[in-house]
Amino acid sequence: MAKVAVIGGGNVGATLAHVLAQGDVASTVTLVDVVEGLPQGKALDMREAGPIQDFDCAVTGTNDAAAGVAGADVVVMTAGLARKPGMDRMDLLKKNLDIVAGAMRAVKEKAPDAVVVMVTNPLDVMTWVALRVTGFPRERVVGMAGVLDSARMRAFIAMELGVSVVDVSAMVLGGHGDTMVPLPRYSTVNGVPITELLPAEAIDRISNRTRAGGAEIVNLLKTGSAYYAPATCSAQMVEAVLKDRGHLLPACVALEGEYGERDICLGVPVILGSRGVRKVVELRLTESEKAILKKSADSVRKGIEEVRGLLG
Ligand code: NAD
Repeated sequence: MAKVAVIGGGNVGATLAHVLAQGDVASTVTLVDVVEGLPQGKALDMREAGPIQDFDCAVTGTNDAAAGVAGADVVVMTAGLARKPGMDRMDLLKKNLDIVAGAMRAVKEKAPDAVVVMVTNPLDVMTWVALRVTGFPRERVVGMAGVLDSARMRAFIAMELGVSVVDVSAMVLGGHGDTMVPLPRYSTVNGVPITELLPAEAIDRISNRTRAGGAEIVNLLKTGSAYYAPATCSAQMVEAVLKDRGHLLPACVALEGEYGERDICLGVPVILGSRGVRKVVELRLTESEKAILKKSADSVRKGIEEVRGLLG
């Protein structure tokens, strides 16, 4: 079976490693982190859960990124720093850029055939950085954000209607931030669009709550950000690749003219399988949907231009 390397053994990375181990999708899951002992300790702790949770997955931990990613079929990038007192937005961006670029150089050298799933924020910008540094084809560098934003919207729709989340699907496109684009027309309960089931006021409320979904959790936690849903959503993407499932899901990918955009990584529907993105799906959008997607793309493009200068 396959090997998955998870770079960053913090909240998202470690939770993801545990979800993957329980899901029995890979024979090896390797956690990579710069903090001495942390990935090793968390990996050992997870292995000790194996006898109870009935998994044999070899979860290992290392501080050596090159060794950790070597030969991986899928690499998930979750390493990053949170903003510290005295650090401005640009300082944080530079730090995370260094972390992502360093890790991606190791991936390019040691896991040249891997599919890379980016999680580190700012997501769309860091997906673009990963693509640039690895030089991989766009099919093999995808960002996880749309699955999370859609999962949040699905949860809110289910809560509003009192129906099972299993019956609810939702589609959220665009950048991972407050310009994201929830699409009620493409969000359904067992095939019935929510526009047939809910008044406009409720749909607006759900769309706004989805856009602010990350901040809602940060405000509650006070320190740190969401990780159960982000880890689970990342695991779904890893599984789509390892099992060649062909899931149609929103993911951040480099656009080559689709949706009228190029030289940008943006959340759009894709079909995800063993070699990464099989296809970018172009939805027919209304003029107002196109306008808000364009606004979202413009905001992501601004972020990319900032790091383009820093990357050299
Ligand atoms: P965290 O602080 O708990 O974990 C980050 C880990 O990265 C830490 O353990 C740290 O030691 C490690 N790290 C730092 N530099 C490293 C390096 N060079 N190599 C290896 N490891 C390194 O943070 P978290 O909650 O796990 O979040 C991780 C990232 O994911 C953040 O950038 C966060 O904003 C992002 N995130 C994205 C989404 C999304 O939807 N895309 C959702 C949630 C979180």
